[in-house]
Amino acid sequence: MRFDVVTLFPELFEPFTRIGVTRRAFEGSAPAVQLRLWPLREFADDAYRRVDDRAYGGGPGMVMLVEPLERALSAIRADQQAAGSGPTPVILFSPAGRPLTQQRVTALAASPGAVLICGRYEGIDQRFIDRHVDEEISLGDYVLSGGELPALTLIDAAARLQAGVLNDAQSHEQDSFSDGLLDCPHYSRPEVLASAAGEPDAVPPVLLSGHHAQIARWRREQQLRLTWLRRPELIAAARAAGRLSKADERFLAQLKSAP
Ligand code: SAH
Repeated sequence: MRFDVVTLFPELFEPFTRIGVTRRAFEGSAPAVQLRLWPLREFADDAYRRVDDRAYGGGPGMVMLVEPLERALSAIRADQQAAGSGPTPVILFSPAGRPLTQQRVTALAASPGAVLICGRYEGIDQRFIDRHVDEEISLGDYVLSGGELPALTLIDAAARLQAGVLNDAQSHEQDSFSDGLLDCPHYSRPEVLASAAGEPDAVPPVLLSGHHAQIARWRREQQLRLTWLRRPELIAAARAAGRLSKADERFLAQLKSAP
């Protein structure tokens, strides 16, 4: 897949492609994720490389100009055509967008990619949105200074789903949200953690039992318990999607009577 990122700060993206397991997604002659950066200032048409101006109607803050954005998008389309890759949808990051979910990330990770527009200042001229933007995505109900962190968030979430990126191919299948529930707690060495005051903290015994079916059941119950306590709406959604087994429902009924 390929991401074409339109940004005023391309330097934020390069270090990210070199770190952690996700760097594998960007490596080699045919990387799983091709990251193309399109520095917006290169598409300005004056000597000052101006890409923003004051808002009509007044008020504080600057607005990103339509024309440099349109020139950047044309360059991306030409490059995609030359590479024989089809035009990918245009995503704008904005607090007014739909909140990003693992479901959306999974669909996108399996797609040919997207053009990502990173806003700055007060945002971008509405006419660019009306003409070119296919989807607006928000990270949540708070305001960031730019769309670069949202773009990196989306790229990271999609990169780790590519084959061969995580160490264990199954490890993302256990993650929070992959089956609509939160993840279970995880434990590693030491088996017993000394405590200065009071009882030492031991790993739950079932995890040391070597009994795979019991371990799987315990983990599932922990997922159900945590999700029920913290995100009850996700339990309702999993039920509606037919993702809860009879054993899950029995456990949830038990939880309700004795949390
Ligand atoms: N005036 C805008 C905020 C602009 S912040 C408003 O009140 O909605 C500048 C840019 O940061 C935005 O154009 C957008 O690209 C990005 N941004 C800020 N918060 C974001 C969020 N929660 N999700 C996604 N992008 C965000």
